[in-house]
Amino acid sequence: MDKSEKGNLDQVEHVVLVLSGKGGVGKSTITTELALALRHAGKKVGILDVDLCGSSIPQMLSVGKPEVHQCDAGWVPVYADPQQQLALMSIGFLLEDSDEAVVWRVPKKQFVSDVAWGELDVLLVYTPPGTSDEHLAMLENLRKHRVDGAGHYTTGEHNNAVSTGDNMSGFVCPHCSECSNIFSKGGGEELAKLTGSVFLGSVPLDPLLKVSLEEGRDFLQAFPESSRYTAIS
Ligand code: ADP
Repeated sequence: MDKSEKGNLDQVEHVVLVLSGKGGVGKSTITTELALALRHAGKKVGILDVDLCGSSIPQMLSVGKPEVHQCDAGWVPVYADPQQQLALMSIGFLLEDSDEAVVWRVPKKQFVSDVAWGELDVLLVYTPPGTSDEHLAMLENLRKHRVDGAGHYTTGEHNNAVSTGDNMSGFVCPHCSECSNIFSKGGGEELAKLTGSVFLGSVPLDPLLKVSLEEGRDFLQAFPESSRYTAIS
């Protein structure tokens, strides 16, 4: 039987695709922080990372390069927390298991249902930058199961107007905490208006966030006063 028919997404309440037009706009950051915020809100969350070039999510969640195993239902995700409320599966985990140069033969669209997710409130599917045929194929495959939303992220500059959520909008001064707009802003908001999609909110460029990501620390736990960013609802 085709693995996509195995029903590994049957117990997943909501599936959300995370997209961006290009790399380096903070998609790994937003995915990680969104997953942590949902977990803080008491939800059981999964992240599927289908970026063959490797996202920074495993490092940001302090998971490293775990050995992954298979059970009858598919690949067993790893957990980023002792309570096992935040599950992660990355194509990178499989590639790193081999000493040889591996050619990825399984369609990425199928990988999502190759993972034994179990019960989840939300599954975030992190996709590589761009909007390729592969993205469309994955969307088509997920439609069979139900996709509840797609978050598209960019920096706030107008020339990147392809987004419904601004990252790096403004810079938070580490001394006085004032937020200044060092780039032009509002690109995401503008596009949301143009496309009739919902503008989710904006996240400033914050040195504390960068440090916590690099150290694999939970930002909201390490810096609870930063809940001022919770513009995303
Ligand atoms: P992408 O996944 O889109 O390639 P990343 O999430 O890896 O981008 O972000 C690129 C870099 O920018 C990383 O070093 C990350 O720590 C940093 N970064 C992203 N968003 C912020 C932010 N709001 N404040 C500070 N640093 C950020």
